[in-house]
Amino acid sequence: MANMCYCRKRAAQQMAWTTTNASRRFLACPDRCCNYFRWIDSPLCPRAQVIIPGLIRRINALEAQQRTGGDIMTGAEEEEVDVVDKRKCCNKTMSLLIFTWICIFFYVVSF
Ligand SMILES: [Zn+2]
Repeated sequence: MANMCYCRKRAAQQMAWTTTNASRRFLACPDRCCNYFRWIDSPLCPRAQVIIPGLIRRINALEAQQRTGGDIMTGAEEEEVDVVDKRKCCNKTMSLLIFTWICIFFYVVSF
């Protein structure tokens, strides 16, 4: 059975874009005649309430940058650079670890 609003119309599915309810679906009066309101999705966990609005802000910033053709580094780009730096650092650590194992191997073999 379809959800009906107080004025006996089929309730319309909509999506909230507030900070605490980003992307959370709800049902409401299709003509906004009555105050019928019912959540479809359960509340977002506190972590999602922080992460989703942050992702939306980044997407908006990227889209704005794309429209203007600007070259301002966004949070997403900074994060990508950060990941590349971490990979380089990880490779150095792995090389040092392998070098250490080789040294230990030759030290043990020499006795
Ligand atoms: Zn209604």
